[in-house]
Amino acid sequence: MANVVIIGTQWGDEGKGKVVDLLTERADCVVRFQGGNNAGHTLVVDGKKFILHLIPSGILHPGKVCMIGNGTVIDPAVLIQEIDRLNGHGVAVSPENLVLSRYAHIIMPYHRALDIARENKKGKSKIGTTGRGIGPCYEDKVCRGGIRTHDLFNRKTLRKKLEKNLEEKNFMLGKFFGEEPLDIDAIEEEYLAYGERLAPFADHVSERIDELCRQGRDVLFEGAQGTHLDVDHGTYPYVTSSNTVAGNVCAGAGIGPTRIDRVLGVVKAYTTRVGEGPFPTELRDATGERIQSLGGEYGSTTGRPRRCGWLDMVVVNTSVRLNGLAGLVITKLDVLTGIPVLKVAVGYQCGSRRLNSVPPELDGLEACRPIYEELPGWEEDIGRVRRLGDLPSNTQRYLKAIEEIAGIPLAIVSVGPGRDETIALKDPFDFE
Ligand code: GDP
Repeated sequence: MANVVIIGTQWGDEGKGKVVDLLTERADCVVRFQGGNNAGHTLVVDGKKFILHLIPSGILHPGKVCMIGNGTVIDPAVLIQEIDRLNGHGVAVSPENLVLSRYAHIIMPYHRALDIARENKKGKSKIGTTGRGIGPCYEDKVCRGGIRTHDLFNRKTLRKKLEKNLEEKNFMLGKFFGEEPLDIDAIEEEYLAYGERLAPFADHVSERIDELCRQGRDVLFEGAQGTHLDVDHGTYPYVTSSNTVAGNVCAGAGIGPTRIDRVLGVVKAYTTRVGEGPFPTELRDATGERIQSLGGEYGSTTGRPRRCGWLDMVVVNTSVRLNGLAGLVITKLDVLTGIPVLKVAVGYQCGSRRLNSVPPELDGLEACRPIYEELPGWEEDIGRVRRLGDLPSNTQRYLKAIEEIAGIPLAIVSVGPGRDETIALKDPFDFE
């Protein structure tokens, strides 16, 4: 029995979806603990592609339980749509296999309206949020005005909270942003209806996980976004509005730190970043465009093209430290095939200083220049390789360099989007 956490080590979009999908085979339960529908996994069911933003992709595996913890924020319309679409495609979603925390905060229409109005007002200095109301929802959680899942089950409580919140939100929307105010009656009816639909799924996630742990079951905790988008440890303010690091599994799902056996970090074989913010190894040339096009680097949530660059081991090593990683999962190695020389950032030159981890202040990072190690590329198609030793020697050299610089072992290497396009090196649920 083991409880394993999967975390993105870069700026998100590392290919966590495929990795979680693979590991779900071994787990009994998959849990999300932070973020909202700003995350997204691309899935293929019966040849039809669709994207899940809230429900863990483990839902596709019969017999597995998926849980959405208290640390997430929920847009109920999106969640209901995902449930209905999955059911419509023959994937049974019921309270048997989907559990929503009663304490997860609800994204309200004023959160979305404020998110968009604020981002528009910022103009050039915008953060690049997805405009889904996630940040404003977390703000209300912290200022203790938030509406939680269980509030949708009680008309009187919901009305009282809405009255209080809308007085302030409509003032902001109307007077500060020049937007239309929102109507309380319409929101009340809409959200009570959502409550009715979601009530059967709502439960105490912390207790349910504890029960599973006591039965010796394997639980997989699925991080969304990436370590460098963490609200405390990321490239603030160009970050997401929750803690994405492994430590937040405990608060966001309601478990104690001693319940976590292992944390694995997913590393894309190069680096991407969506939206604004510093990116030392960014490539603004034909190689960057090649990686973007071969890697299909367009946001699954917003469709925005992702900025692409060389693998940055300063970023990865900082994640090793912040998450206490035990092993790495390398994804999208196949995308690098055909590039004659590969560069890997092994440190930053910041004025006269050499840095080995990402400086916490934005100004510091913007002033950094990557120090590169150059490695020879490979031409061979690696998509069909299933054993490390069968990879071209230069590909093995690239992987060895990552392992040595990070100082922790590789657990899995992904050489294509398919489930079988994988080289398994260690069982994440069972290694020392
Ligand atoms: P996530 O949010 O971290 O899961 O990242 P994305 O939604 O951006 O998923 C990454 C995309 O890359 C998906 O379309 C996957 O099917 C695809 N993918 C995952 N692993 C690999 C890989 O090893 N090679 C290739 N070519 N594609 C991959």
